[in-house]
Amino acid sequence: MTEGSTLDANLSWTPGLPEGWQPLYHEVIHAIAAIDPFAKVVDAKEKFGEMRVYMKEFDEPIFDLIDAATAKSRTLCQMCGEKGVLSRNGGFYATVCPKHSDGFEPAKFSPMRHVRMIIPKPDGEDADQKKEKPE
Ligand SMILES: [Zn+2]
Repeated sequence: MTEGSTLDANLSWTPGLPEGWQPLYHEVIHAIAAIDPFAKVVDAKEKFGEMRVYMKEFDEPIFDLIDAATAKSRTLCQMCGEKGVLSRNGGFYATVCPKHSDGFEPAKFSPMRHVRMIIPKPDGEDADQKKEKPE
C-alpha cells in the first residue's frame, strides 16, 4: 500500500461517523498520517457518545492523538459539531448541543472508565489563522 492509499482507506471510515465529528476525524487522521503514513485505521465509530478510532498498529504519539480526539469528541455535538456535552437518554449516550438535546439530559459521568488522564494540548490553530489572514 502506498502512503496515499492508506490515507484514503483511513478516510473511507468517515461516512460511518456522526456528521458533527467528521471534521474532527479528518483532523486526527491527517495528524496521524503526518507521524506515520502507514498507520491503518481498522474501525472508527461512535460509542457511548464519544468518537472511537481503532488502529492496527500504532505507537505512543498516535495513541495520544487518538486519545485527544476522543476527548474532544465529548465536547462537540455529534449532530452538528457545535459545542456539546455528553448526554444520556435512558441507556443511550450521545454528545449533543442544546439544539439537538431533545429527550437527553446531561450525563454526569461517562459510562466508560478511562484509565489514562487526558490533558489536551493548547490549540494554536486559531492564532495561526489570524496571523495568516489579518482583517
Ligand atoms: Zn448540535
